[in-house]
Amino acid sequence: VRTTLFRNARIVSPEDPGIPLAGPAQGTVATFDRGALLCRDGLVVAVGPEKDVLDAARWNERAARRPRSADEVDCEGRCMIPGFVDPHTHLCFLEPREAEFLRRLDGASYLDILAAGGGILATVASVRAASEEALADATRQRALACLRHGTTTIEIKSGYGLTTEAELKQLAAIDAVARAAPPAVVPTFLGAHAVPREFADGSDEYVDLLVRETVPAVAGRARFCDAFCERGVFTPEQCRRVLVAARAVGMRPKLHADEVHDTDGAALAASLGAVSAEHLLAAGEDGLRRLAAAGCVAVLLPATAYALRKPYAAARRMVELGLPVAIATDCNPGSSYTESMPFVFGLAVLGMGLSVNEALVASTLNAAYAVGEQERAGSLSIGKRADLLLLDGETPGIVAFHAGVSPVRAVYANGVRAWPAEGNHP
Ligand SMILES: [Zn+2]
Repeated sequence: VRTTLFRNARIVSPEDPGIPLAGPAQGTVATFDRGALLCRDGLVVAVGPEKDVLDAARWNERAARRPRSADEVDCEGRCMIPGFVDPHTHLCFLEPREAEFLRRLDGASYLDILAAGGGILATVASVRAASEEALADATRQRALACLRHGTTTIEIKSGYGLTTEAELKQLAAIDAVARAAPPAVVPTFLGAHAVPREFADGSDEYVDLLVRETVPAVAGRARFCDAFCERGVFTPEQCRRVLVAARAVGMRPKLHADEVHDTDGAALAASLGAVSAEHLLAAGEDGLRRLAAAGCVAVLLPATAYALRKPYAAARRMVELGLPVAIATDCNPGSSYTESMPFVFGLAVLGMGLSVNEALVASTLNAAYAVGEQERAGSLSIGKRADLLLLDGETPGIVAFHAGVSPVRAVYANGVRAWPAEGNHP
């Protein structure tokens, strides 16, 4: 039994009411100015004002019949928040497409880039050619970068294989990263990410392959199935076919919806009972209302809008409509190339107009709901994993304020320091 007492912290965390926080509750957090947290075997057993937690710790010591059974961490007055949950990433690739970034800055259009052999299909070619070990290694390195920036739970999508064999290889690489946790990993199957070159003349034929062969083959290896609903990629009807097939073999639906054009993706996500709808830059008011009514979480990706120099999603309007908002990095090799939830948090506050506490809920509790991890992560609550961050500041506001660097001083996963390595301060 390993017991750890964190003392002298300014604790700020959402409280988990059993549903994502929406509307006026989106920014609801509990604050303990002189707080403490006690964890046993990696789980939170007490959290609150230091005096109350010390009583609980003493009770714990008596129960253990040992005078000093708890390790102590003096947090020196730093702000403690839950570990970030990054609910939307495409981490499983080899190299980012840096040359393409430069061409884009020079004014090349996405079609120019595709014609020059770039774009997502370039990543698909390299992932198909890679070994599972090389993919796992590259993904693990990126997951560790996420961890250093405070992410203790991360969703990772496949979707750069686009054959049954290569999608299985990606999911195996993601599973290898999951076994090396932290960070904790949630795998998502995204076979309907792009139409592969060999199906260029018929996306329906590719969807047939997904439904007939790939979805059954990946069953049990991914918790969620996602699809890219967009003009020129997959139609709402094609996405529906894939997601219904996936749901029948135990994967819960998610949807990349209304990123560039309003294709009624939000309404489709709502009608399928999707756990989340992602991007939503172009979603109309009606779609947003349906998502809210269906209990979906809106996963917003402001680093993607930033990287593509597009307007941000209408986060304030979503909060007004009672739609729970989460934020994610969308880390991928082409547009949003960042592992940093602090960067995304800053964009959410300064770019999308969320309050600091709304952004905190969006990057922790609501993000945990968006990947089905709410019973284990997303808040400093009794019974959840003791995944927590100590910040170089007094409030979560430092995450948005101290731009371009990480304000995360220490990361604990399951109550154990995950970064920096033991032996370094603090
Ligand atoms: Zn994405």
